[in-house]
Amino acid sequence: MRFDRSARNGLMIVALLSVGASAPAQTRDPVPIVLLAPAPLPTLAGSTSVGALVVTHGGVGSGPEYADGVRAAADTALAVLLARGSALDAAIAGTVWLEDDPRFNAGTGANIRLDGHTIQMDAAVMTDEGRFAAVGAIERVKNPVRVARAVMDSTPHLFLVGEGATRFAHRIGFADIVPVSPQAEAKYRARMRRQAESFGRRDTTVFDWRRYWNFPGAMPADMLEWGRHGDTVGSVTRSADGHFAATLSTGGTSVTLCGRVGDVPVYGAGLFAGPAGAVACTGEGEQIIRRFLARSVYDRLAAGVPAKQAVQEAVAMFPERWDVGLIAVDRTGWGVAANRPMAYGVAGR
Ligand code: ASP
Repeated sequence: MRFDRSARNGLMIVALLSVGASAPAQTRDPVPIVLLAPAPLPTLAGSTSVGALVVTHGGVGSGPEYADGVRAAADTALAVLLARGSALDAAIAGTVWLEDDPRFNAGTGANIRLDGHTIQMDAAVMTDEGRFAAVGAIERVKNPVRVARAVMDSTPHLFLVGEGATRFAHRIGFADIVPVSPQAEAKYRARMRRQAESFGRRDTTVFDWRRYWNFPGAMPADMLEWGRHGDTVGSVTRSADGHFAATLSTGGTSVTLCGRVGDVPVYGAGLFAGPAGAVACTGEGEQIIRRFLARSVYDRLAAGVPAKQAVQEAVAMFPERWDVGLIAVDRTGWGVAANRPMAYGVAGR
């Protein structure tokens, strides 16, 4: 499901000029100057639109084969808006739909971590009134985004993590289940195979996770190195009366120490909403946090930059070697951009 980076590892040559034609011919040859322009983004879309509006994503790296899932999630969220649900109700409905689809790395389908057992998930919600809440490294719940909403509605806190978040969820009635799926198990096995290949190549440039092993159980005997895998899911919404919300949920990247938390539940990093619109990210969480990405894009919306342009510029400025994707809605339209293929859904009326 990961995109082959070599497919866009360069820049597009738009012009070849020669200078030095006026210099004496005998002193030097003309020096070619190559003018470069950025290659077009693999994922870029957007339009103007008024009224109720939903945009969903299936995580950067999710290809067109996931289009039906993100589209169904957008339709589900739109139905909530049309039934007079709030922007937040709709954004949660969209993200719950994707958490329940085992093809996506969130809720059912969340990545299995290095030890082959642990599933730790992050989720966050935010409204245009500035209400925010999140859970980090939560385990044994089916829909972490619903738990994030419960943190918002029922506690004085913004952020619950780890065992406290899990116990809170069970205490208020969420079922105690490990959301493991055949799809997540297959992904885990595939990573183990890639890990074996890495070791076969004696690749010493990769971090040795085994050295800092901090999962509760013993390290699997065949534990080797494998590449990262992400694919958060998210929804941004605008209600017909002009309110905004954003929600995200993820099984996180799989190749991490126990307790690793990415951008999703970090305020201003993974998502942001305000009176000018709503933004949600996907991609390399550590890099998204460093750039305060969702809030930075929101600031552009608040300055009057259209959503499509704001997300396009943010992705173009992101270092190419890191995966990143963004969805956004503003008062007059929507935008989607990613530096890899990314499945997204749009629904509006
Ligand atoms: N941003 C997520 C994380 O770092 C992963 C992803 O979106 O692919 O946890």
